[in-house]
Amino acid sequence: MATLFTKIIQREIPAKIVYENEKVLAFQDIHPQAPHHVLIVPKIEIPTINDLNSENVGVIGELFLAAKEIAKTLGVSEQGYRVVMNCNEDGGQTVFHLHLHFLAGRSLHWPPG
Ligand code: AMP
Repeated sequence: MATLFTKIIQREIPAKIVYENEKVLAFQDIHPQAPHHVLIVPKIEIPTINDLNSENVGVIGELFLAAKEIAKTLGVSEQGYRVVMNCNEDGGQTVFHLHLHFLAGRSLHWPPG
């Protein structure tokens, strides 16, 4: 089902886009949890990790390659960053269009809350 991320991909809702290629779009999170908080989303609609399969799993690699490029662009490759993917209620997922959170710009706590 189309979520607001599909609307962002289709430019029906505005977003601060930081990276785009044929398969992936990345934009600033509206409620940033770190100085840099970017959401990296596949252009195809996959609701959760539970919907991954052998045919669509390649998109996960695309998300991570985008994360690497975004880190370079933001100048945080060496200092470090975190990527997180939430799944369903206990994982804290609120938007059911697969996405990688990219967080950087401060020392991040572990374990996360
Ligand atoms: P999750 O809770 O893992 O599903 O992450 C969803 C993220 O989407 C949250 O961090 C929200 O702050 C973010 N978000 C919700 N609406 C928007 C929006 N219109 N533009 C950018 N980020 C959004």
